Amino acid sequence: MPLPVGHALAGIAAQQVRPGFFFRNRWLDAALFVLLSVLPDADFLPGLLRGRPNLYHHGAFHSIGAALAVAALAGGLFFLRTKRFWPPAAVSFLLFGFHLFLDYFSLDLVAPFGLPLLWPFSGRYFISARPFFSNITRSARSGDFFPSLFNRHNLEAAMQEIVILGGLLAAVVALRLLLGKRSPGE
Ligand SMILES: [Zn+2]
Repeated sequence: MPLPVGHALAGIAAQQVRPGFFFRNRWLDAALFVLLSVLPDADFLPGLLRGRPNLYHHGAFHSIGAALAVAALAGGLFFLRTKRFWPPAAVSFLLFGFHLFLDYFSLDLVAPFGLPLLWPFSGRYFISARPFFSNITRSARSGDFFPSLFNRHNLEAAMQEIVILGGLLAAVVALRLLLGKRSPGE
C-alpha cells in the first residue's frame, strides 16, 4: 500500500487533467480529488477504534463493489446539486479504482496479502507478482500505530512514492501547459 501522500499525489495528478471538474473553487475541487483517492484507506478507522488497526484494512472496502457504491453515492449527491449523475460517478469510480490499482502493485507482508478486488463477486485476494511500491511497516495495535509509521523503511517508501507519483503529477502539469500553449486558433 502506498502511503496517503502517494495516493494524494495521484489524486492531484488526476485533478490536473481536468481542473474544476467537481467544483469551481480549485481548493475544494482538489480536496475532493484527494479525498476520493485516499478514501479506501479509511478502512483503518474501525479497526483503530477497536484496538487493531489492520482488522478491516484491505477488506471489502478495497474492492470493485466499494468503488461502485462510492461512485453511486457521489453521483447521487452531485445529481441533487447539479442534475449530473454519470460524469461525477464515473470520475469517482476511476479515482477510487486507481487507489486499488496502486495497492495491487504494492508489496504486502501483512496477511491477507493483496486485495479482494472482485468482492462481492469473489472473495479471492489479488496482488501483483511484480510490485513496484514498497510495503509500509506498522504496528498491529492502535496504541502505537501512528508512532510506528515513523521509521527509516517507511521514509524510504514515502520517498519512492513521491518520486513516482510526484513524477506523474509533474508530467500531467507539463503536458497541460504544453497543450495549453497550442490552443485553438494558432
Ligand atoms: Zn489502500
